[in-house]
Amino acid sequence: MNKKSNCKVNQLDKGEELVESRFTFRFRLRIEFWLILGVVVLCAGILLWRGIKEKTAPIGIAVISYDGEVQMRIDLSSEQDKTFTFEKNPKVQFEIQDHAIRFVHVECPDKLCEKSGFLRVENQTAVCLPNRTTLTIQGSGGEIDAFV
Ligand SMILES: [Zn+2]
Repeated sequence: MNKKSNCKVNQLDKGEELVESRFTFRFRLRIEFWLILGVVVLCAGILLWRGIKEKTAPIGIAVISYDGEVQMRIDLSSEQDKTFTFEKNPKVQFEIQDHAIRFVHVECPDKLCEKSGFLRVENQTAVCLPNRTTLTIQGSGGEIDAFV
């Protein structure tokens, strides 16, 4: 404690300029600190917000298309758990579980479609190219999402 106050006195003795530059340096450091902190908090906030948004986003309508033609539309919010196929391509099977849908037990060479996992909110998409089948989720309301 004593040492510190001695130090301060010495600095003052060395002249105003030193004190001034030390002051502005510390001041700048402080500003940079707050700037960086601000950016970090902002980033964390955005990430958190997007995470929450993804979790609380309304459950959408699953649209199954074959050769570019819509085959089925399923409202995931009210659909019960089940696995099913559609008429035009029984090699492709879907599973609905907890209001989410995924490709499952598909007869296809790459299985990329199955790796896409469960879809449940607007704008999520999975495709099975070998089977020319796409699965997309549309919004249930007319809401426009500007962040996608
Ligand atoms: Zn596939």
